[in-house]
This record gives sequence, structure tokens and C-alpha cells, in this order.
Amino acid sequence: MMIQPVLPRSATLSWRVQWPLYMTDGAFDATWAFLRRHRRAVDEVAFFETFSHHGYLPLDLYRRTADVLRRRMATLRAGGIRHVGINVLTTVGHLNEAWDVLPPLPFQPMVGLDGAVSKSCACPNTPELRAYIRAKYTLMAEAGPDFIWVDDDLRMHYHGVAWACACPTCLGLLAATTGRVFGREELARALEAPCEGGLRRAWLEQNLHAIEGLLAEVAAAVRRVSPGIRTGLMTCGPAWTTYSGYDYGRWFGALGATKARPGGGFYGDEYPIGQYGKALEVGRQCALLPGRAADRQYELENFPYTSLGKAAGTVVSECTLAIAAGCNGIAINALGMSSPHDRFADKEALARRIGQARPFWDRLVRATDGLSTAGYWPAWRADLLGRRPVREGESWLAPPLCDITRPEALGCIGLPLAAARGDGGVILAGRIAEAFSDDELQAMLAGPVLMDAFALDVLAERGLAGLAGVRVARWLDNGMAERLTGDRLNGPAAGAIRDIRPEFWADPYLRSALLEAVTPGVRVLSELENLLGERVGPCVTAFENGLGGRVVVMGHAPWRFVNLTCKRSQILAAADWAVRGRLPVRVRDAVPLVPLARLSADRRRGAVVLLNAGLDRVARVTVELRVAAARLRLDAPGRAGTSMQARRTPHGWIVTLRDLQPWCAVALVL
Ligand SMILES: [Zn+2]
Repeated sequence: MMIQPVLPRSATLSWRVQWPLYMTDGAFDATWAFLRRHRRAVDEVAFFETFSHHGYLPLDLYRRTADVLRRRMATLRAGGIRHVGINVLTTVGHLNEAWDVLPPLPFQPMVGLDGAVSKSCACPNTPELRAYIRAKYTLMAEAGPDFIWVDDDLRMHYHGVAWACACPTCLGLLAATTGRVFGREELARALEAPCEGGLRRAWLEQNLHAIEGLLAEVAAAVRRVSPGIRTGLMTCGPAWTTYSGYDYGRWFGALGATKARPGGGFYGDEYPIGQYGKALEVGRQCALLPGRAADRQYELENFPYTSLGKAAGTVVSECTLAIAAGCNGIAINALGMSSPHDRFADKEALARRIGQARPFWDRLVRATDGLSTAGYWPAWRADLLGRRPVREGESWLAPPLCDITRPEALGCIGLPLAAARGDGGVILAGRIAEAFSDDELQAMLAGPVLMDAFALDVLAERGLAGLAGVRVARWLDNGMAERLTGDRLNGPAAGAIRDIRPEFWADPYLRSALLEAVTPGVRVLSELENLLGERVGPCVTAFENGLGGRVVVMGHAPWRFVNLTCKRSQILAAADWAVRGRLPVRVRDAVPLVPLARLSADRRRGAVVLLNAGLDRVARVTVELRVAAARLRLDAPGRAGTSMQARRTPHGWIVTLRDLQPWCAVALVL
């Protein structure tokens, strides 16, 4: 039976309720009273089935839990909550937790490639584990939920052992599929060998298939009880690693899932720009989702629920960014995991702010649902680890210069970044380009491309550097600064120097490349200059190649310390030149506004969200939108105090925004 996805007409707000918050009548009464007090912020409630991330507890406990859940769900439904279900927190186990306190795993634990044995996480491939999982999910389905979530412990990395699973069962599976028999140590060595690309891909396929197979068993167990229970899968993102496979089409297909909860790490206020990185990571996961997973709930995660650790205002801005990045709901994990001694007094402000923001999120979902992120696409792929070559002496699992998050630095100076490839240009950072074929790279180079010199080296190895107009003449690792030339693209920043002392940061991405033109027509935007003020030669260039592609090579630390006025101005002008003036949004003033744009192909629908990523209020800023909309409105939670002047131009709108508060987001809605 094909279960139809529930299409949202507004943002779905789903509260996740931990086990200690409902098992006793007293705790449940307090929790239910809290949810009723904030009724307009509650569409859906998901109860966790356990209190632990450890991979095994006796089924009797789950039988008793299911009995309690049946009563709790009936109470919520009678109270008007339309969607009530179960969040299975632990399927194979998340990481080593409480192993001296909880019962040991009665089945094969995960084994790392380094021989480490997990204390809390089970190998997903043994028949013993699978029988247990079928029984557990059967009990949960019999409790009668509307939906069942599978949490994000279905991965093959970070389980108390770094890279799983090299247990005897899994080595046997590899032998059966490849015809090659390995011991664990021998396999670990072989996977690092440059010539073993085929083996690496077979191993990643085994990881992908282990999860796919387990999800199919979960789906079968649930459907056997009731075909009408919707299922959902919680995921982690590809920036962490692509070791687990990340073929969402196969995983969501195996589970028959219509619900998705893309996630990642952003837990508190210590590093507030992390909310932007997480939004992009969530956007990448949304881009991988099959169409059937239409219910896409952002992971709002305040673990371990220190109530002063993340401001309510942070929660509002991070959820706004997540919706801008592709979600249409929020899975709120903020209530804590301890029995509520104070009846949630410390969560009142948060729930109130969520309730106040909800009409704004509803409008933002209606404006953007179904649309793609717009802007430059920092290249990545879900099968990165399987696609790129490994060189002698390199680590396969921690590949050098393969961080797909580096271009976020350009987002932080105002360049709109896209989660998936569209027509808005490509960014090649580090050695990510190695994971793409010659044809794919050539197709990218026929359009707008921003890249660093490491990517240029990859292109040179493929014989494609001519399309960038330059090659790396020499690498330099000390004494270098960058002087902006008199090229028109530098505008008033011509002659400015960017001196960031790369030696300080022990960051391999900060090496400098002296570039050399290999064809006429290369424009030089910056030159390296040494600490004595002597000119060394070109380091940033712009070139239009014979395929019509406009390519900007940035050979001096393009992914850090670009947030200074002159460099910001240069990068944004060059990026806009490369897309022929089609950047969807230009923030005209040098303020730390971070954009996220979701636009239809004709740019008549959508929204651009702007986050003030600084601790100063932005008193006044001019923003240009290249959109075809006849109307434009400013939207934000609690709009009082914000105002906007807007005027039409031949290319869209120019608006003036005032009084943007620190770490708050507003939306310009088409
Ligand atoms: Zn195993």
C-alpha cells in the first residue's frame, strides 16, 4: 500500500517528548499541561521510546512503555492533537553510553576498522539484532501511533568506534559480494591503498545496504501491524562524512518514509554562526530527499538541554534559516530529558517565542515550499568518499582538503549559497573536484565558477586548467599578503591590502598560490605581495573561456578572513560578474548580513532570508534583489520596529532595511 505524503500548508511544529517526561502520571500531567498552555505551537507530538542511546534494553521494558504510550496518545488525541506518534530514539545505538550501568549487548557489537569494539552499538547486519529490532518496532506499532520515527543512529560512523563495521559477519558479507576474503587489519590496510578504489566503493555500498536492509525490516514490522502508520527517518548530513552511503532514495524507499528530519550539530550560543552552517547542512539533506518525503522537519536540538545554553531568540533565528534552507516543519527537541521538577518554568519563554514566530514560519513555508535554494553551489556529492582517488600516504577516511563546508565563509560576507546544483554557479574548494568526472567538470566550467588554487591543480591534472586561464606557478607558505589591483571589479577597493598572516593559523587551506596565465585575456584582480612590500605576482584572476564560462580563481586564502570590506567587495563583484549580474541578492553595504534565497526558476516566487550575523544592530542597509516579482514585503516574527523602503529597478528591487537586531533574521518575501 502506497502511503500518501501529508503536504503541509503551514509549518509543522512537532514536539519531541523524552521518556522521563511521560512515564509517570505526574510527569505526564506536567508535560501535557505545558503543551496545552502553548497549544498554538503544537501540531504534533512524538514520544521517545527509551531514555538511553545504548543499543539494548530488555523487550519487557518496551512492552511496558508501549502500554503507557497507548494511554498517553489517547489522551493527546482526545485533547485535540491531530498527529501523535513515537520517536524510536535507539535502533542500533548512538554511541557508548552507560555501558557499566545498562545491560550489555546480547548481540554482535560494532567493530571499527581499527579493531575497537563498541560498548553500546550493535552491528546492523546480524540476524540476532534484526530479530530484536523487528520485535521492538512491532511493540511500538502495536501501541497505535500515527507515525514512527527512526532516529539518526542508523549510520556506520561514530558509534564509540570511528568506522564500522568490521565484525566477522560484515567481513563475511564483503567476501560474499567481492569474492575477496579479508581479515580486519588486512581490510583496513587495503582500504587505504591508492589502487583499491573498487574495494572502497564495495565497502561503502555495504554500509549503505546495511542501513537499507535494516530499514526494510523496520518497515515490514510496522506495516505488518498496521499499514497506515506513517514512517520517518532522521538523518545526519554529508559534511560530517559520506562514509555511511547517503543514498536517501534507497533509505527512504526501504522504510517507505514520508517524513524526514534532516539534522546536524548546533546546540548552543557559544558559536552562533553555527546555525548558518547547520542550515546549509540541512539544505544539503533536503536536496537528497526523494519527493515522497514531503514532510521535512528541521532538527531543533538543544541537547543536553541546559536551559541557559541557547537563547529563545537563537531558536527563532535558527528555525527561520532552516525553513529558508528547505524545511517545512520543526522537530523541537528542547524539553529536556529529566522529570520536570519545576513544571517547565524554564521552558515557558522558549515555547512562547516559538508560538509567536509560528505565523511567520507558516507564511515562509507557503512562500517557499517546493522551491530550490538559489545562488552559488559549493560542490559536494553524497558519494564523495567513494569517488575521489586516494594518494600514497593520504588518509581515505580523513581526506585532505575535502571539507565541503569551507565556502560558507563566502555566505558570511553576503554571497547567497545553494544546497544543490542549479544555474547559479559552482564553487570548487580544495580537492572536492577530484570526485567529479572530466565531463562534469567541463560542464561546470562552461558556466560561472569560483575556485581556489587546490581545485585549479586538480583541473590541471585533468588537462582542464586552460578553461580557468591560469595555472599554479608556485606554492608559497609564508610572508605573503594580497594587494587588490586597479581592475574595474575591485572598484573603490583597488589598491587595498589584505594582510592576514597565514602562518598563524596552521590551516592547510591558507597556502598561497602564485598564478600564471596560460592564455591571453586573463584579468588579474589581486597580486601577492611579500612582507617587505615587494610584488610577487598574480593570485586572484578572472577569465572568460571559450565555452562561455566565467571563472574566478582565488589563490590566496579564500575561505577564511574574507570578512574585510575590500575583500568582500572584490569577491561579491567577481561572483556577480561570473553570473553576468544575476546574483539573486546583493547586500550593498559592508555589514554581516548572511542571505539564504529560495526562488522559483522565473524568480517570481520565493523569499530571501537575511540574518544579521553580528553583535551590532544594523541601523540601515541597502539590499538589491534581482527578482521578477511584482510585489515585495518584509516579514519577520514580531515585525514592530522594522521598516522597509522599496523601489523597482529594471532588474528587480532595491530596498532599504532598518534596525536589524543582532542574530535575528528577516525575510523579503516575493
Ligand atoms: Zn558487523
